[in-house]
Amino acid sequence: QVHGQGGVKFQNWAKTYGSSPELYFQPTSVEEIREILDMARKQDKRVKVVGGGHSPSDIACTDDFMIQMGKMNRVLKVDKEKQQVTVEGGIFLSDLNVELSKHGLALANLGAVSEVAAAGVIGTGTHNTGIKHGILPTQVVALTLLTASGEILECSESINADIFQAARLHLGCLGIVLTITFQCVPQFHLHEVAFPSTLTEVLDHLEDHLKRSQYFRFLWFPHSENVSVIYQDPTNKPPSSSSSWLWDYAVGYYLLEFLLWISTFVPSLVCWINRFFFWLLFSSRVENIAISYKIFNYECRFKQHVQDWAIPIEKTKEALLELKAALENNPKMVAHYPVEVRFARGDEIWLSPCFQRDSCYVNIIMYRPYGKNVPHLNYWLTYEGIMKKHGGRPHWAKAHSCTRKDFEKMYPAFPKFCSVREKLDPTGIFLNTYLEKVFY
Ligand SMILES: Cc1cc2nc3c(=O)[nH]c(=O)nc-3n(C[C@H](O)[C@H](O)[C@H](O)COP(=O)(O)OP(=O)(O)OC[C@H]3O[C@@H](n4cnc5c(N)ncnc54)[C@H](O)[C@@H]3O)c2cc1C
Repeated sequence: QVHGQGGVKFQNWAKTYGSSPELYFQPTSVEEIREILDMARKQDKRVKVVGGGHSPSDIACTDDFMIQMGKMNRVLKVDKEKQQVTVEGGIFLSDLNVELSKHGLALANLGAVSEVAAAGVIGTGTHNTGIKHGILPTQVVALTLLTASGEILECSESINADIFQAARLHLGCLGIVLTITFQCVPQFHLHEVAFPSTLTEVLDHLEDHLKRSQYFRFLWFPHSENVSVIYQDPTNKPPSSSSSWLWDYAVGYYLLEFLLWISTFVPSLVCWINRFFFWLLFSSRVENIAISYKIFNYECRFKQHVQDWAIPIEKTKEALLELKAALENNPKMVAHYPVEVRFARGDEIWLSPCFQRDSCYVNIIMYRPYGKNVPHLNYWLTYEGIMKKHGGRPHWAKAHSCTRKDFEKMYPAFPKFCSVREKLDPTGIFLNTYLEKVFY
């Protein structure tokens, strides 16, 4: 019954990874997914599910069978009393945000974009910021998993509790996430205030900033002391916006991309660009008020390479100062702005970078102006060295060079996750090249 399409090319959002699945499926029911799994077993093929395809790594790539879950995207139940919503795994958060809003509800925290699927977001441990808030998978209170054998498992803190702690951050390797129940909160508006500061000031008063704003983060402009502090807090004030096409696009996108492209011929220009754009766009106070998801989400305009490791929160100052010193001591190593610094509460999810510790995420980027690759290996290795030294754990969706040996050291519950995975998927039907590096 089920029809797979040949000749489809898959590319992730940043166009840094892609693959050519032999067959590409968009199932509309569990029965169709079971058929695909049967077919894969008979033909000795592997299966990879894809959500929004936003992961900057090759975690969602496969040359065998790819299942895109976009047609299994319904809201199944809204429980107003418990403030919980049950959705199909393929629903995009952009649709869920609007749907929740109709019921006076919202997710308590979101990442930078919502064109991502519910199951995809939890698959890689997507996070935002706010020391009282966990990564997005901590909002999951139950889920159902279709395993390699075709069985449907219900999981929550009370049913299949072990599988639940594994599947809340599942890497796409435990089975197909059919449904997810999220704990929501009453709908709220956020007041965003961005203002200039310095790295020294922010690192010296980190505790104060964390206390002062529920969703505090900051952007550091490498090769300088410049920092843009961003506070986001619930408010009852009416919506207002200070965005302007001239500054946001003409300057912040078209001019910047052109100058970044020029800097690929004269790398030393990057230091000047970082300082100049801070002065142009980030040196005065800016305020916005809107419904929560419109403030959490922002437009990521540039295709980019990205790494984002979580370190124990108490290492924030030391690690950032080391990164700053490394850049100062090696003028040939250039770093695009911003280095985005966010925070998250510790949790009990086995493969969460915040497992049992409050954490600071340090997100570094290198843009690809007009699709051109900018050399960044040296910067990448230096950053990774500093993150590893401070007990860091990499974001599962983003670039890293870690293998099983590293993960065994980083994650106390790694053996438990491996044994659940081996039990649920003994033949490795849900593995791909990325996951082989994690598990072999
Ligand atoms: C512009 C941009 C901004 C971003 N901002 C943030 C941010 O603020 N914070 C952050 O932490 N991350 C951020 N990310 C990373 C992003 O949140 C993650 O990559 C997330 O996993 C993307 O969701 P997706 O639906 O696109 O997942 P995909 O990339 O499609 O898939 C991710 C994983 O989930 C698996 N999967 C998907 N659906 C299912 C299913 N139904 N069953 C089983 N497995 C499944 C896939 O096989 C894969 O392993 C950003 C990425 C981009 C490109």
